[in-house]
Amino acid sequence: MVRLIDTHCHLDFSVFDKDRSAILQNCKNLSVQKIIVPGVQAKGWSNLLELCKQELMLYPALGLHPCFMQQHQPDELHRLEDYCQSGELYAIGEIGLDFRFGQACQQEDLKKDQTGREQQLFYFSAQLQLAEQYVLPVLIHAVKSHQDVLARLKQHSSISGIIHAYSGSYEQAVEYLKLGFKLGFGGAYTYPRAKKLRALVSRLPLEAWVLETDAPDMSPESQYGQRNSPEYLPEIARVFVSLYDKPLAAEQILEQLYQNTLSILPKLKNGLKTGLKL
Ligand SMILES: [Zn+2]
Repeated sequence: MVRLIDTHCHLDFSVFDKDRSAILQNCKNLSVQKIIVPGVQAKGWSNLLELCKQELMLYPALGLHPCFMQQHQPDELHRLEDYCQSGELYAIGEIGLDFRFGQACQQEDLKKDQTGREQQLFYFSAQLQLAEQYVLPVLIHAVKSHQDVLARLKQHSSISGIIHAYSGSYEQAVEYLKLGFKLGFGGAYTYPRAKKLRALVSRLPLEAWVLETDAPDMSPESQYGQRNSPEYLPEIARVFVSLYDKPLAAEQILEQLYQNTLSILPKLKNGLKTGLKL
């Protein structure tokens, strides 16, 4: 039996308010068993946690995302620490560095100056410290910043996690793997023109990868220009299998990706969610 986990999906975003339950029902029928929902800014955290309490398939992570720098306040790091202490979180995320200054960084433009960069580094380092202290994996957003991300992860060598929507080089991937990280395989890999990325699948060990949608962003090829959804994780999984060139059955490949996810997010192995009132 195929079992899939979406390791990165913003199902708490309001764009899913109208049909979230239907999507989740559909996911169950499509073998998508678990979904990690990462937070991006503090004002969405309590809603995200509430949603994850209501829906058995959803598992929360909280973090301050590098593309929402103007929303973050330093005291939100204390709130994040309280949540780490409460034991409710499966990871810290989405955190990271995005150095596409001057270009649209998802919802918001970053200022093309050093302030944005320094702020990002401040929040990223502070959240890595929390991950180390509370022994939580991290979900990392790294765009045009792999050298800086790697340098910081090397300062916190006990931390592991996922480099979500991995878009770096082979050499950088090898460095992440040495640090105990996994790489998120998502929609970007479904486009035939993404030749360099797609070549990574067979160059790296199968243990390197986990699956993700990053919904509502990063739609796979069949949904180009449309809202992405965890319902498209099976399409992403099929592309992974088609790119993996070793003689293994699809079920074995996908089971290994499932096990990779449990190994990097170990709290998922517990039967019941923490903080869940039954
Ligand atoms: Zn994301």
